[in-house]
Amino acid sequence: MSDLRELYQEIILDHNKNPRNFRVIEDSDHMAEGFNPLCGDRLTVYLSVKGDFVEDISFEGSGCAISTASASLMTEIVKGRSVEEVRALFEEFHKLVTGRGGQTRSLPGAEKLVVFHGVSEYPVRVKCATLPWHTLLAAFSDKEEPVSTE
Ligand code: ZN
Repeated sequence: MSDLRELYQEIILDHNKNPRNFRVIEDSDHMAEGFNPLCGDRLTVYLSVKGDFVEDISFEGSGCAISTASASLMTEIVKGRSVEEVRALFEEFHKLVTGRGGQTRSLPGAEKLVVFHGVSEYPVRVKCATLPWHTLLAAFSDKEEPVSTE
């Protein structure tokens, strides 16, 4: 179990150090800002949606390792998925990080989200992990007001 924990830790640190899709999409058709005052995490999510599918997604901002790694993995995993699938993924992810299960294994391609399982032991970190997802959902609906976890 501790080997697995170390592996998860390594994946999170890698995504924090080299965040994927960390850029601005100049001609994005959706965007939203998110803020977690508890930790100081701030990010902007950019989206290009074609039909019902996420054609491209990116983010930028600054935050702790958990929020940055979560945003990075999220962009990797949701690219190419339908809006409906993304909503379902977030539900499972939310269950996972709040220690209520979460069936990431049943969501092909999203198994990696399990690396955030340990977050459920640190309630204060749950908001760091879920901020990018809340912001993504806000981007779908073009929320003008920044999303705040408080
Ligand atoms: Zn944080």
